[in-house]
Amino acid sequence: MSILNLSNIHKSFGQNEVLKGIDLSIAEGEVVTLIGSSGSGKSTLLRCVNLLEQPNNGTIEFEGQDIIGGDIDIDQFRSRLGMVFQHFNLFENMTTLENCILAPVKVLGLSKEEATKIAMTHLEKVGLSGFAHAKVTSLSGGQKQRVAIARALCMNPKVLLFDEPTSALDPEVVGDVLDVMRSIADSGMTMVIVTHEMAFAREVSDRVVYMKDGQIEYIADSETMFTNPDNEHAQNFLRRVL
Ligand code: ADP
Ligand code: MG
Repeated sequence: MSILNLSNIHKSFGQNEVLKGIDLSIAEGEVVTLIGSSGSGKSTLLRCVNLLEQPNNGTIEFEGQDIIGGDIDIDQFRSRLGMVFQHFNLFENMTTLENCILAPVKVLGLSKEEATKIAMTHLEKVGLSGFAHAKVTSLSGGQKQRVAIARALCMNPKVLLFDEPTSALDPEVVGDVLDVMRSIADSGMTMVIVTHEMAFAREVSDRVVYMKDGQIEYIADSETMFTNPDNEHAQNFLRRVL
């Protein structure tokens, strides 16, 4: 049963056609990683799925519902489909806990007490319950990214999108964030992940999508992609990055 179904997605910025007809169906509980050179359209694809960008053409169905042409409540939609960004996108002037309860109170209508209780369980999971009342500005990059992940989990999403969540981090804290992502994957969450962490991608992904020039050039299960990809461009890309 597919939870997310992209069909013929096109996106241009001016004359620059960045997505040239993407078809991708993602099953509930599946972990799919997007790899490919810089500029191949990975971020734009995630941003289209989250409606941060409006595709010029094509359809996206989420839980069987058309989210582009359809009449959807965007805040409710984004509560079902969370996104984690390279640069965290936290509210820097707030505390960790305030970041985590803002949307559950505003969008889901939870009481502050309920939202706090839920937030504390997720902050515990990412190893930051001791930092609930710390200002975000006082946290390290790795801690900020774990707050961003906890914040996304607080909305009880069905799908989580990650756009290079470790690319802005110091190498020594990358592992902490990947550990958190691995445990979310193990919990059965549907995840779409853009990453350059190839060992991690190989380990957690059910399928890996290699994007090139705005198209899905090759798609394979994780083992096949990393051991025996049946595509010359994917082979060359992997040879360069591995
Ligand atoms: P990737 O994430 O694979 O590196 P992107 O999706 O970020 O690729 O970018 C693909 C192309 O789209 C690039 O040429 C980039 O310059 C262009 N692009 C992305 N976002 C915008 C935007 N908001 N306005 C204009 N061009 C954009
Ligand atoms: Mg990108």
